[in-house]
Amino acid sequence: MYHSSDRMFNARRNMVIKLEQKGISSGSVLEAMMKVPRDQFMSEALCYRAYDDTSLPIGFGQTISTPSVVATMVQSLRLTGDEKVLEIGSGSGYQAAVLAELAGEVTAMERIPELAERSMLVLNSLGYVNVKIINGDDFNHIDDVFDRIIVSAGVRIFPADLLAKLNDGGILVIPVDESGSNHQIKRFVKKGETGFFEEIIGRATFVPYIMNEKIV
Ligand code: SAH
Repeated sequence: MYHSSDRMFNARRNMVIKLEQKGISSGSVLEAMMKVPRDQFMSEALCYRAYDDTSLPIGFGQTISTPSVVATMVQSLRLTGDEKVLEIGSGSGYQAAVLAELAGEVTAMERIPELAERSMLVLNSLGYVNVKIINGDDFNHIDDVFDRIIVSAGVRIFPADLLAKLNDGGILVIPVDESGSNHQIKRFVKKGETGFFEEIIGRATFVPYIMNEKIV
């Protein structure tokens, strides 16, 4: 079991207080983010900034997501404890850990093999038994359907076939950008076989979603 130092505990508590001030209202999401040691998901050299509300480099040109963006997206999934969740673009594994605190089972896909491997080691060392990381860049290879889907890299064009991986009544959050680099975070609720309700829940900049070496 992980024992946080007092310094990290206080920094994490301050982060959570700030998240609440920024409008994160879900008690369970705030509690989960109080539990997950974000400092463990990045290099030691950057640990002193682990609880700043900012994205930070994790190697391979990728970043660990900004805490308030993680909180906004995860909160919008309305997790109650037993859902089956798919995360696409799990990077450091930080958000996968937050999801694991709140859902039943988390499957995460990461295209960079080194990140997939490293994040799995961190998650194992922290005792998360309900998360698995798959190395890959094509969600069509996952032969399963989910109650929730969260995409952590920004797409230019919404991949409509992703809705087929969602159960009826399921929720999908995804950053979409049709022009510049500032993504709209879209939230879809699936209604029936092909219908869905769509809304925009925020804006943020994400690293690009890459499939077959191409930005898509
Ligand atoms: N939630 C993560 C965010 C990491 S950044 C965290 O907090 O650490 C987004 C990640 O998406 C990167 O690691 C990138 O390699 C990955 N990615 C991009 N396109 C992908 C794809 N098609 N399939 C799987 N992972 C992808």
